[in-house]
Amino acid sequence: MAEKPIYEKLETRVQELKTGYTQLEKKLHEAELFSEEIMTYMSEGFVQTDIRGTIIFINQRLSEMLGYLPEQIIGKYWLDIVPAEQQAIAQEAEARRVLGHTDRYEIILRHKDGHRFPVMIGAGPRFDKQSGEFIGTMGVVTDITDQKKAEKQIAEALSWYQEIFEGSKDAIFISDENARFVSINSAACNLTGYDREELRAMRIPDLHDKMDLDAFNTFHGRIIGGDHVDSEARILRRDGRKVDAEFNNKRITVSGKHYMHTTARDITERKLTEEALRESEARFRSIYEHTAVGLAQVSLDFKIMSANEAYCNMLGYQEKDLVGKHLKEITHPEVIEENIQKQENLASGKIDHYRMEKKFIHKKGQTVHAILDANLIRDVSGNAIYFLGSVVDITERKQAGKERDKLQSQLLQAQKMESVGRLAGGVAHDFNNMLGVILGHTELALLKTDEDNDLVSDLKEIQKAAKRSANTTKQLLAFARKDIISPKQIDLNDTVESMLNMLRRLIGEDIDLVWQPAAHLWPVKMDPSQIDQILANLCVNARDAISGVGKLTIETGRKTFDVEYCNDHPGFIPGDFVLLAVSDNGSGMDKETLENLFEPFFTTKEVGKGTGLGLATVYGIVKQNNGFINVYSEPGQGSTFKIYLPRLVTDEDVDKAVPEKKAAAGGTETILLVEDEPTILRMTRMMLERKGYSVLPAATPGEAIDLAKTHADKIDLLMTDVVMPEMNGRDLAGQITALYPDIRLLFMSGYTANVIAHQGVLDDGVAFIQKPFSMAEMTEKVREILDTASDKA
Ligand code: ADP
Ligand code: MG
Repeated sequence: MAEKPIYEKLETRVQELKTGYTQLEKKLHEAELFSEEIMTYMSEGFVQTDIRGTIIFINQRLSEMLGYLPEQIIGKYWLDIVPAEQQAIAQEAEARRVLGHTDRYEIILRHKDGHRFPVMIGAGPRFDKQSGEFIGTMGVVTDITDQKKAEKQIAEALSWYQEIFEGSKDAIFISDENARFVSINSAACNLTGYDREELRAMRIPDLHDKMDLDAFNTFHGRIIGGDHVDSEARILRRDGRKVDAEFNNKRITVSGKHYMHTTARDITERKLTEEALRESEARFRSIYEHTAVGLAQVSLDFKIMSANEAYCNMLGYQEKDLVGKHLKEITHPEVIEENIQKQENLASGKIDHYRMEKKFIHKKGQTVHAILDANLIRDVSGNAIYFLGSVVDITERKQAGKERDKLQSQLLQAQKMESVGRLAGGVAHDFNNMLGVILGHTELALLKTDEDNDLVSDLKEIQKAAKRSANTTKQLLAFARKDIISPKQIDLNDTVESMLNMLRRLIGEDIDLVWQPAAHLWPVKMDPSQIDQILANLCVNARDAISGVGKLTIETGRKTFDVEYCNDHPGFIPGDFVLLAVSDNGSGMDKETLENLFEPFFTTKEVGKGTGLGLATVYGIVKQNNGFINVYSEPGQGSTFKIYLPRLVTDEDVDKAVPEKKAAAGGTETILLVEDEPTILRMTRMMLERKGYSVLPAATPGEAIDLAKTHADKIDLLMTDVVMPEMNGRDLAGQITALYPDIRLLFMSGYTANVIAHQGVLDDGVAFIQKPFSMAEMTEKVREILDTASDKA
């Protein structure tokens, strides 16, 4: 085979190369077309300029951005489409291209319609492929309007956040899962005294005064676990000061990490205020509780909400029993309407305060007089919340007033008796003289008349009537103290003794007369016929008071009243007295009768039976002799009349040095004192306490039993009135003895011991003291009984 010549081989090679080149060119062209296509349709803008800066290519996207068709732009200078204010940026970028740099920069372009929009341009130089010379620029233009907007929003949000975070008055601490502070506002710095840098290097526990770390970890765990917890703690500031703060803790999650968000508020001030408030409240409480003025809160529907001690004591309740009660339950029916009306006026704002004299009802039923001051209490916004009532008990004041009235009426009574006496005396005197004339002439007429004359019986009737009238006149004269009397020294026992037969006849057989003379009676000075008159009147009254069988007791005794006693007992006179007491177990008297007893012509008896002069006469005689009378009586309980006649001090007595009565010794025993008459209860209690005794006072047997049941200690002596409304003294003593078997008993009564003993109210042999008694007398008796007790024990 013949080899091809070299030329031929070269020819072939050239041919191959040509073909290869053509193919390459084609491929290059294809590639250029392809990249042009890419540039045309890519989502970024694309631009090419030549060495002078003339735009030689612009893609679809960029022409849209600028609002021009490509052919309207191609051929223009790039710098011409950049707005004037952006020229500097654009020129600098061009300069960097010439130097061969590639970079990215932001610039603002202008749309055909004038609006401007921000773009990011990534630009680089273009070089000639053959010579490698700089031939222009190309750039990828990205519209960053949306990105800028987002950035602006973020910046705005950030500054809002910053504003809120920093502007918060509350301290805000953001700490991470390790309780390390990551973000702190300036209030937090102020609260703690640390600056931001210092805090960022600290953990939560570092801020707290005395912290239990285990407890903190559990607490922190809970919050990081998602719990929302409020807490209070004491912060230790950088300067060492301690601050009480209130915290609000919750979890926040940022980019998947958990943080604790804590707001804190300084509550030191509030705590101090609270403390001050508590203190002032406690102070108010204590005043409220312990003031002597009764105070009560009453709801707008008139129910007791609270009451202080004084209020409770005044009404005899415990607070728990009062709370919830309606005003009606403790107010006297007479004043409830007025009371409620005033409360309503207060509630409606018609008045802002009222005062009234109010009558309450004590738990035990008695009326309590009080001055009530009521106010409406409002809250800070002016809404009515409750009534506050303050009350002052004026029961005693009222009673004192009554006593004064009583004295006043006694005085009037005395004056009236005085004038009636003067009148009666004057009339009686003349009348007595006339009667003398009538009697004298009747006697003369009788002498002049024969026994069998018809006139004799008539004359005798006249004589009888005149004698009866003379008797009445004598009474009138006695009452008027105009009777001719001849006082002399007498022994009352003897005088009474000599009258007993006459008195027995006077009262009849159905009534038993008991005579109890006291030994060693002092003498008195008076006309014995006056004693006759007194006894006759008292015995006749006793007889009239007894229906059927009964008993009448006459006693004598000695009695001394000291100044102290008399100060407490209007009507009593200090000194030594001889007592004449007449008691019966008849009908007794009601209050009204007792009040009018001594009034002349006062009688409860039917016409013809009573004159109403008996006791007036007795009164007159006693007064004439500087004595006084006392009456004890209750309906159905009989009566005791006590007449005190002043002791006659003889020369003998004056010579005999009267031994000073030794004051009775006191003691420290506990005495349960029961007496239904408040003034006597108070006085007796005072006397006993002055002697050192502890006294448990009770106004009723029921109260005494309650006291005995609740008293924790020993009670040594029961001192009780005998005649009381609820229960008599003997039955009370029975009940108390059951509770305190060792207790000693002392009974007191205005009735005399004998009367009481014989009425079966008391057993014989019990200790007894008769009212009224002096302090010395009573304390001596008490000592005597207590000493017997300890002998027995
Ligand atoms: P008189 O006996 O004429 O009625 P008194 O002055 O003697 O007048 O008595 C006045 C009233 O006092 C009597 O009507 C009676 O109601 C009452 N009174 C007096 N003594 C007793 C007494 N022992 N028991 C009950 N009531 C008495
Ligand atoms: Mg009479």
